[in-house]
Amino acid sequence: MVEYNDLIFEISRPGRVGYSLPESDVESIDLESKLPKHLIRDEEDAADLPEVSELQLVRHYTALSNKNHGIDNGFYPLGSCTMKYNPKINEDIARLPGFSRIHPYQQPETAQGALELLYNLQEELAVITGMDAISLQPSAGAQGEWTGLMMVKAYHEKNGENRKKVLVPDSAHGTNPASASVAGFETTTIPSNKDGLVDLEELKKYLDSDTAALMLTNPNTLGLFETEIEEIAAVVHEAGGLLYYDGANANAILGKTTPGAMGFDIVHLNLHKTFTTPHGGGGPGAGPVGVKENLIPYLPVPRIEKDGEKYVLNSNYPLSIGRVKGYHGNFGILVRAYTYIRTMGTEGLRQVSEGAVLHANYLRKRLEEHFDSPYTQLCKHEFVLSGSRQKKLGVRTLDMAKRLLDFGYHPPTIYFPLNVEEGLMIEPTETESKETMDAFADAMIQIAKEVEENPDIVLDAPHTTVVGRLDEVQAARKPVVRYTKEKDSEKEKQTVKS
Ligand SMILES: *Cc1c(COP(=O)(O)O)cnc(C)c1O
Repeated sequence: MVEYNDLIFEISRPGRVGYSLPESDVESIDLESKLPKHLIRDEEDAADLPEVSELQLVRHYTALSNKNHGIDNGFYPLGSCTMKYNPKINEDIARLPGFSRIHPYQQPETAQGALELLYNLQEELAVITGMDAISLQPSAGAQGEWTGLMMVKAYHEKNGENRKKVLVPDSAHGTNPASASVAGFETTTIPSNKDGLVDLEELKKYLDSDTAALMLTNPNTLGLFETEIEEIAAVVHEAGGLLYYDGANANAILGKTTPGAMGFDIVHLNLHKTFTTPHGGGGPGAGPVGVKENLIPYLPVPRIEKDGEKYVLNSNYPLSIGRVKGYHGNFGILVRAYTYIRTMGTEGLRQVSEGAVLHANYLRKRLEEHFDSPYTQLCKHEFVLSGSRQKKLGVRTLDMAKRLLDFGYHPPTIYFPLNVEEGLMIEPTETESKETMDAFADAMIQIAKEVEENPDIVLDAPHTTVVGRLDEVQAARKPVVRYTKEKDSEKEKQTVKS
């Protein structure tokens, strides 16, 4: 069905309104006596808002939301992003007035319930990560990494050392080297071995008295478990470095092992991945950090502590790196994650990782003969295929990803990790049914056949979406994110030209 909004882009009509208000009985003020003249709008530079009825407005946003692909309307196997179902009970709890109607500047005595929740969440996450203390402040994985690295820096400085180097494997998420350089370190990339794992002998060559930390994720970004993690931890510690755990993808280890047990000193978690808070589109997230005992003094302040029966905010940590986020982190997200942890319980969380690993291996097995499969060992929460076989026939991974849209699926992560040619990184998560995974596998296999028999259908994809292939470079470099009436966009075009 063609929607009204697809036929007519500009629905604004002069004089149409979407509200009715009683006449104002507030005495009008003389603006010019209150505001500097250049801040007062005249007719010339009026706001130019669209003029629509309430119903048109509702239809406009509903139509936009229907065009959006989300976990609630389809399969979303975007590798490393853990697009699992976000239980709706999380939303109910986050909306309770006691959580949604408090103010972060309230005195702690008047917000004891909220502080209790945050304190309990810290305790739960300490157990889940095997760490001694947690800070909930960072609002994303990348900010957690940066917070962790600032603590690494403070730790070495306190010990009278000025270590400059952070080691990162070539399969690492791009935020790892980025966070390290924002924190003032130099990053060194260490190559993986043919099994996609850290090469212990190779690693030893990079370790010296200038090594501040090694950043690792385990299972790594290829979905593979670093089996030599204890040896890796030992050699890094021997060289005086710290071990940083990128725990953005903890979905395969819940209830099985912890970064603490593996020998890590610092971790961050992505509550918006593993712990079912909604994400995508850059919305609010949470990237709490955890540390072992020796790093507690450097954690962000204020810390949420329990003093007898009372919950308090304690900023009395002179070695702290300070505050990294306004207020106490993204509170609403923290409430959702806590709800998830409590509804799942210890046994439920263990089942999460078993389901995530089982599903990834099931899908891997169904697909591995149809695509190149650079790593054949058992995977954890996700796996990586390569489209190099199809590339030889003139079809690239990007084309296959576009073709998947015709089947109603969000494509997997593509061209990542960087050490896999034409990579396709697939993470089904534990919340999908066998039928959904089978239907997705069927679609992938059909696409692989099309590449051999009728490549044009893949090269021209997508065929069923509202818009075809977008100019992604242009969209990233010159995004048009603001409503402009025609005359304004004409003006803008001219400025761009001149
Ligand atoms: C998602 C992810 C990150 C970054 O997390 P953000 O919340 O997007 O900043 C870091 N590392 C890994 C392995 C990830 O998957």
